[in-house]
Amino acid sequence: MNKHVSILVIGGGPAGLAAGVSAYKAGIKDVLIIERDVRLGGILNQCIHNGFGLHTFKEELTGPEYAARYISQVEELGVPYRLATIVTDLQLSDDGHTKIVTTMDEQGGLTVYEADAVILAMGCRERARGALNIPGERPAGIYTAGTAQYFVNLEGRMPGREVVILGSGDIGLIMARRMTLEGAHVKLVAELQPYSGGLKRNIVQCLDDYGIPLMLSHTVVKIHGDKRLTGVTIAEVDDKLSPIPGSEKFYECDTLLLSCGLLPENELSGQLGVNLSPVTFGAVVNESLETSVPGVFSCGNVLHVHDLVDYVSEEATAAGKHAAEYIQSGIVESAEGGSDEKVTRVITDGGVRYSVPSLLRADHMADLTTIRFRVGAVYKDVDVVTYADGRELARLHKRVMAPGEMEQLILRKSDLISEGVPSEYRITIENKAGQ
Ligand SMILES: Cc1cc2nc3c(=O)[nH]c(=O)nc-3n(C[C@H](O)[C@H](O)[C@H](O)COP(=O)(O)OP(=O)(O)OC[C@H]3O[C@@H](n4cnc5c(N)ncnc54)[C@H](O)[C@@H]3O)c2cc1C
Repeated sequence: MNKHVSILVIGGGPAGLAAGVSAYKAGIKDVLIIERDVRLGGILNQCIHNGFGLHTFKEELTGPEYAARYISQVEELGVPYRLATIVTDLQLSDDGHTKIVTTMDEQGGLTVYEADAVILAMGCRERARGALNIPGERPAGIYTAGTAQYFVNLEGRMPGREVVILGSGDIGLIMARRMTLEGAHVKLVAELQPYSGGLKRNIVQCLDDYGIPLMLSHTVVKIHGDKRLTGVTIAEVDDKLSPIPGSEKFYECDTLLLSCGLLPENELSGQLGVNLSPVTFGAVVNESLETSVPGVFSCGNVLHVHDLVDYVSEEATAAGKHAAEYIQSGIVESAEGGSDEKVTRVITDGGVRYSVPSLLRADHMADLTTIRFRVGAVYKDVDVVTYADGRELARLHKRVMAPGEMEQLILRKSDLISEGVPSEYRITIENKAGQ
């Protein structure tokens, strides 16, 4: 027999934990968090470095310490959860209201839940070699940076000694330092783009402090080795990101770590028919973090890749509260606005790549809404400008903006609708190089 729950949270990482706690505190006791790992905490369990929680707790915690703050809330409140249980299927009932969630675990086998609302909090996975199309042999010694982090921090194994890192995302930068501290020789970090994909503080603390060179506009063009990696050929790339002939150089190494981006794990969301953004690969959500399927909410890295876990927790807390309101209202409304409801589309251009949310329903907006976004290149001394149907709402000067850092602005509802509900809210960058 199927089991009923009011809110089912998929994923017990920082997003799922904060969403579950928030929904529970908002009055929905019938919440269930499903986590496929044997412990709660998600990716934080392997992030033993410090630097977490500065915004939320005003102190520098390690990943496991940060996770523990939320896990203890789950335990103290008694928020139900299941470990070592994977959600394998997510469908809508025939009437379109109930979410049918199929889970699998070793002891209990298959369980089917009927949930009134679902919160998607599955995080993301790393882009592996198969997605990068690097020519050459297929020897051992090539790992994603996160896999290497798991080996070193959770299993106490060293993946190798002479290391090259491709990609300057935060995981790669953190692993450059970690491998060095464990006695490996990290020769260099090669980055295809002319800028780093990671946080500035990580470049300073993980590369500069250890004398590890960051080679921007460089990539691996060939992998050498039969059974085990023996080296990589690295070339400089031009402004179209194509390798420049004659710039190739061979580097001897036994390990190549890949830190080339993260992909939100949205296979289940796709099964359900949730609209996904072609830019973030996460769900398209409204001001309540509700996807195109009513009663299905999304938060954390499965929605868009976050740089700081504090923002994950903040966003997930909001998602949990909105999911509780959805249950308590008892009304199933279109997540994209009813037929007579005016909705505002959030448009991003001029260097702004995307925004979350991308749809605003004035009737559902709180006084203040947090809009998160990222830019597509490095900008210095520019203005972030917002418009409602062409009327300027706000102008914020930024000294530096970079793709590796998530930006956010707070939108006041009274400003947005002061002249009626606009059809378009636009975020753009102006005054680029004196423009
Ligand atoms: C190496 C690394 C270093 C970082 N360093 C910092 C830092 O210094 N400071 C900082 O603030 N942030 C840092 N972050 C970012 C922060 O850790 C992430 O933003 C945060 O963990 C994302 O939380 P999440 O819950 O969305 O995803 P995750 O932590 O990935 O959790 C998702 C959970 O969902 C589970 N799941 C997925 N699919 C299913 C399924 N089908 N069924 C059941 N369960 C499922 C997974 O097992 C996982 O536990 C770092 C991240 C990484 C990877």
